[in-house]
Amino acid sequence: MTIKISLLGSTGSIGQSTIKVARSLKDEIKITGLSAGKNVDLLIEQIKEFNPFLVSVKEEEDAKKISKLFPKLQVMYGEVGNLEVASMKESAVVVAAIVGIAGLPSIMKSAKLGKRIALANKEALVTSGRLLIETARKSGAELIPVDSEHCAIFQCLRAENVRFLEKILLTGSGGALRDFPLDKIENASLKDVLNHPTWKMGRKITIDSATLMNKGLEIIEASYLFGVSQKKIEVLIHRESIVHSLVEFTDGSVLAQLAEPDMALPIQYAITFPVRKKGEVKKIDFSKINNLSFENPDLRKYPCLKLAREAFATSEAHTISLNASNEVAVKSFIEGRINFGAIPEVIKKVLDSTKPYQADSIEEIFHTDKIAREKAYKIISKGE
Ligand code: NDP
Repeated sequence: MTIKISLLGSTGSIGQSTIKVARSLKDEIKITGLSAGKNVDLLIEQIKEFNPFLVSVKEEEDAKKISKLFPKLQVMYGEVGNLEVASMKESAVVVAAIVGIAGLPSIMKSAKLGKRIALANKEALVTSGRLLIETARKSGAELIPVDSEHCAIFQCLRAENVRFLEKILLTGSGGALRDFPLDKIENASLKDVLNHPTWKMGRKITIDSATLMNKGLEIIEASYLFGVSQKKIEVLIHRESIVHSLVEFTDGSVLAQLAEPDMALPIQYAITFPVRKKGEVKKIDFSKINNLSFENPDLRKYPCLKLAREAFATSEAHTISLNASNEVAVKSFIEGRINFGAIPEVIKKVLDSTKPYQADSIEEIFHTDKIAREKAYKIISKGE
């Protein structure tokens, strides 16, 4: 049977890996809807290859341009367009790969409609985990993680009772600066920071990997997805990016999932689950692996990890502010407005000014996000 999918964020790193999966399983996966931001040239290529029913882009101008080229295609734009692609009745699976909180409304919509969500966007669970899990439970929507670590944990827990889970060990490469001397990190250049040792990903997540905010966001994501307190989630630096995470049980047994670092695998798994299809991901040659190393992160190098844990322990408003201030700080670092070392400083100041409360609706989440963003921009522009 063909699995029909809507792909949100089709022009990004996860989007393009999803395209590869769909290409390799063309008899099994049909792309019915595509949504992208501003990379219209790539989107046009994707439309030609996959012939979807509906596409959406960020700007109206771009939508007009695409309509002219494909007069029979339904073309939309903006958030309304994303929501339509997320709720197409033709699509059973929504691959959620828009970066940042911009992806939240479409994910929430798919969750309300009871779709299967192949969830790459981690910011949605970070900012609205409780609401999203509750919405999915009510509608019967399935949240299948695409993040390689959470895909690994999901697989390790399939035949297990969470009651017997002792801890989750989230692995991470340590990012581009893992071997930088401590005193050089503050002024690391954008080029240094984007030079990830094992994964090729979008810019935001690559920078989040260098600060280890990525692991902080993943702790929150794992806590919501698997119903496990953050106290039971540990982070390990694993340089080889082969062991995608581990789960330890009461009796001391540890289960892990291993694979070559290629996002095509977790994407394909989330789409075809529980079926496993023959994929194109390279198989591990164990005879060539000399070492699988694990070490505790040096918190002096990665202050963002501590900030994420503290925010999560404080309140929902704090995790929303954490995410918002991080998005602003990362963008400002990319634009050359702040140095790398200022990223955790901006986030800390925003968190210190956040009032604790529980966000009970998507409107409240976006309101808190807006306040945190404004505060972050103020700190950056005034050097407060
Ligand atoms: P990219 O920056 O490579 O891609 C982001 C995608 O989102 C692009 O297609 C971009 O469009 C699109 N986009 C941005 N804003 C909008 C908008 N308002 N409406 C519609 N589309 C929009 O990011 P990644 O693919 O790296 O990451 C995507 C998500 O997946 C992130 O949340 C990340 O944390 C998560 N993730 C990524 C992994 C990876 O390996 N890359 C691994 C695990 C999780 P355009 O480019 O056309 O402007």
